[in-house]
Amino acid sequence: MSKRGHPNRKLDSHNDDDLPIFRQREKLIQAVRDNSFLVVTGETGSGKTTQLPQYLYQSGFCRHGKIGITQPRRVAAITVAQRVSQELGYDLGRQVGYQVRFDDCTSQDTVIKYMTDGCLLREILADPDLKQYSIIILDEVHERSLNTDILLGLLKRKLLQSRESLSSRSKSLKLVVMSATLETGKLSAFLADCPVFSIPGRTFSVTERFCNLIGPKDVESSVYVKEVVKVALDVHTCEPAGDILVFLTGQSEIEKACDMLYDKAESIDYRYDVHDHSVEGLLILPLYGSMPTDQQRMIFQPPPAGVRKCVVATNIAATSLTIRGIKYVVDSGFVKQLNHNFRVGLDTLEVVPISKSEAQQRAGRAGRTSSGKCFRIYSREFWEKCMPDYTIPEVQRTSLTAVILTLKCLGVHDVIRFPYLDSPEEKYILVALKQLYQCDAIDRRGHVTTLGRLMAEFPLPPGLTRALLKAASLGCEDILLPVAAMLSVENIFIRPGRPEKQQESEQKHRQLATQAGGCNDFAVLLNVFEKCKASDTPSAWCRDHWIHWRAMKSAFSVEKQLRDILIRLKQHPDFPVEKFDGSRSELLRRCLCSGYFANVARRSVGRTFCTMDGHGSVVHIHPSSALFEQEAQLDWILFHDVLVTSRVYVRTICPIRYEWVKDLLPKLHEVEPHELSSVAREEVTDEEMAKWETKEATKRRPEEAAEEA
Ligand code: ADP
Ligand code: MG
Repeated sequence: MSKRGHPNRKLDSHNDDDLPIFRQREKLIQAVRDNSFLVVTGETGSGKTTQLPQYLYQSGFCRHGKIGITQPRRVAAITVAQRVSQELGYDLGRQVGYQVRFDDCTSQDTVIKYMTDGCLLREILADPDLKQYSIIILDEVHERSLNTDILLGLLKRKLLQSRESLSSRSKSLKLVVMSATLETGKLSAFLADCPVFSIPGRTFSVTERFCNLIGPKDVESSVYVKEVVKVALDVHTCEPAGDILVFLTGQSEIEKACDMLYDKAESIDYRYDVHDHSVEGLLILPLYGSMPTDQQRMIFQPPPAGVRKCVVATNIAATSLTIRGIKYVVDSGFVKQLNHNFRVGLDTLEVVPISKSEAQQRAGRAGRTSSGKCFRIYSREFWEKCMPDYTIPEVQRTSLTAVILTLKCLGVHDVIRFPYLDSPEEKYILVALKQLYQCDAIDRRGHVTTLGRLMAEFPLPPGLTRALLKAASLGCEDILLPVAAMLSVENIFIRPGRPEKQQESEQKHRQLATQAGGCNDFAVLLNVFEKCKASDTPSAWCRDHWIHWRAMKSAFSVEKQLRDILIRLKQHPDFPVEKFDGSRSELLRRCLCSGYFANVARRSVGRTFCTMDGHGSVVHIHPSSALFEQEAQLDWILFHDVLVTSRVYVRTICPIRYEWVKDLLPKLHEVEPHELSSVAREEVTDEEMAKWETKEATKRRPEEAAEEA
């Protein structure tokens, strides 16, 4: 292999990478000084995320408060903070730090704080004026993540209000919005016609090729994993030096693909030695959201001489992170998205084709430092028939339940006329309100209840929070906290690619399930948590049971953090207290029922189940469940989440009894979303209330609902 272009570069000088932003430094600082709103745009990799906060810090902007920079993705927040602290020569967590959900690496000294958009939203809940900050930089706005969109609206309102009050003018907060080149006119118009600062960039040409390995008929299958591996290996054997970036969908697909690549390149078991992925001249590196930081760092390091780097990544590598030296992109054409699926009436993780604009963005990663090539595994027909032109913003396709609760807690009562950059359809807002009402987070007038305020304190989905609070009120949080923690970290079960290892791991996992009673996925999680925690050598225990040790470490930390929040909230005089006598297994499932009663299904024909939420959707038990193949013995089940591929699958399941949800199920039918539209806007009129009261009296009895199913 030819000599590789990775000289031993000095960190601070960027000597081989003259970033486009360098020449704009003074002008940029001035533009921030002159404006309370500013849009900054430039090609990915031009230096916006890593450099601008440093410029502002060096020119004294931190005198009145911190610089906060949000990222839609946690990996980006962490790695960028690492990079910037290194460039400035500080220890991470001191002057430069990061905060992501369940991981706070900041201190009293922190003045440049990278964080996820979700974290800033939570901070606003505790401090609506963001008094600690002098500047907020919303980064990656073109991604249109739900939390970033909401922050955009909240900060716009806040800044416009404080502009009007003269007194606060001298020290008022500034907002900088950064975006890859899309939609800057729209952003400027949204932010009171503020100036747009463009960083002139340069890119190299990228040759694009359709490999015709998948077509429109493959849109619902998962053959793309196999095909990207094939193409990546072809590139490795046929193309001259240059690193490869493979775009895949999620952790499990990435691990599967890496396994196949290791195998092809004479695999070594990556459980035992994460630092030795380099075989046959190919260094295989996975990159996904919940990866541990030491492994993330390897992504940016140049490979040893004569070795080609192959990064197998989620969409995170499309714009959030720029990896130097990429010359080849292999595009699967798919992405994993969390959508609110109106057909099944549930939030679902779906693997869907990316948009054409997304595909162009992916291809562009091959042309950052020299000309490159992009191999699309799909056909032109797939491109034309299956891929939409643009990606729909998250606010228009995902569940709004959590953000609406946040808005309500911030006193934004009129959630329909909130300043959205793109408004969600009203029905999405109404579905969210209905869900909040169902789990008692808001009352009939749309006001946040005490319970709702408690719920907003937890960085968890509302259903899970509700279950946890129920357990706490019954004094049995010890069984729900581990479950909530385990559901908040990456998948803990290792499923190796090779068949003989697969058998071994499956046997160990079955054993863990049997110990937990054999037919409750939540109890399995609890069992793994408790067994691992009780072990003298937990990492060895994990290796022995084919469990991801690093995921367990995060679960332990998450459990502690959730416990700390709970301890604080329990001191509240209004914290509910209830009593219950029953077995531990029943207690666990009853608590889950109070949070997940919208996720209940009853056995239907064959191996299918039918949901109870009014949609009556047909769902299947996912093969990863301990209850898979026990369908025949089950009647009612409760599930944690839904995965849509060719079928609608439910995952993480436990059997329940109808009596436990009998009193809760009517809530699912009590109000129809459209009836909540006035709640979304204004105070409810008495007339409206009267209508609901009658509805309450004539609501369907649960027995009827169950019979119909
Ligand atoms: P933008 O935000 O405009 O897309 P960035 O500031 O993220 O640009 O990236 C600027 C440069 O810094 C890129 O060349 C990128 O490769 C490099 N870089 C960013 N993060 C790291 C890191 N953790 N390690 C090494 N290089 C990095
Ligand atoms: Mg960036």
